Amino acid sequence: MVLPVVLLASPRSFCAGVERAVEIVEQLLEQRGGPIHVRKQIVHNTHVVAELEERGAVFVDELDAVPDGATVVFSAHGVSPAVRREAARRGLDVVDATCPLVTKVHAEARRFVARGDTVVLIGHAGHEEVEGTLGEAPDRIVLVDSVADVRALEVPDPTKVSYLTQTTLAVDETTEVVAALKARFPALRGPASDDICYATTNRQDAVREVAADADLVLVVGSANSSNSVRLVELARRQGTPAHLIDDVSDIRPEWLAGVRVIGLSAGASAPPRLVDEVITALGAWDVQVRETTRETIQFTLPAAVRRR
Ligand code: SF4
Repeated sequence: MVLPVVLLASPRSFCAGVERAVEIVEQLLEQRGGPIHVRKQIVHNTHVVAELEERGAVFVDELDAVPDGATVVFSAHGVSPAVRREAARRGLDVVDATCPLVTKVHAEARRFVARGDTVVLIGHAGHEEVEGTLGEAPDRIVLVDSVADVRALEVPDPTKVSYLTQTTLAVDETTEVVAALKARFPALRGPASDDICYATTNRQDAVREVAADADLVLVVGSANSSNSVRLVELARRQGTPAHLIDDVSDIRPEWLAGVRVIGLSAGASAPPRLVDEVITALGAWDVQVRETTRETIQFTLPAAVRRR
């Protein structure tokens, strides 16, 4: 077998919001000991969740599985106001790991609704981030996923429409949906700066770069990780075969047949060590980093877990 060259997309792997969310749970476990309850997966990655579970984190689907008065962490994807109210009613000690960039979208939703607009949220039904944002005003925010959804949209006043987006969408696809909205509602207003976050945008730019020169693209990430799935789709749209792998054990030998150049990336919730393991397993004879930008963003931890 010819040993492949690996083109390593950069940036890749953990973003600032994921690092913050994981560190919140780690700090709580260290400072208070387990069990620490977390509503939903703290980030969408099976390895991160399993490792935190081993250390005493208990992941639950809803607050009714959290004992009264216990500490509960809200995941990086955010929650609806109804969940916050329920936590307050139950006397739960909430530590909020919602990514600040998701919190920004919630604030926009409240502002747009307050000025009387129908808010069109571009996103994927059932995703936890979308559920949380919709919950800001369930009867005033409508979800669309595609240009076809936009065509079918009915709103009370077409002159009062705003849009928002999920933070982890494909930039190119979302541009098309926004253009369709503008065509239907010329007075459409949107956020001052993109809701698709810097980490999503940067990882997509980097994958585009490596996919152009690769015979195969591998993206490390879990199947429920929206931004990871988008990276695979983007590479495929460029005409490069691509697969999502949770870890090195998912790589199938037949994918590698005849492949000389492999583009490698990881979604924002995938730990960097999983990428290192893939490089080792591929036995790459050369690893070339393709850096499209350098990330310096960091988010501060909530006061409840900050080290003194
Ligand atoms: S992908 Fe973006 S929105 Fe999601 S946690 Fe990371 S920085 Fe925040």
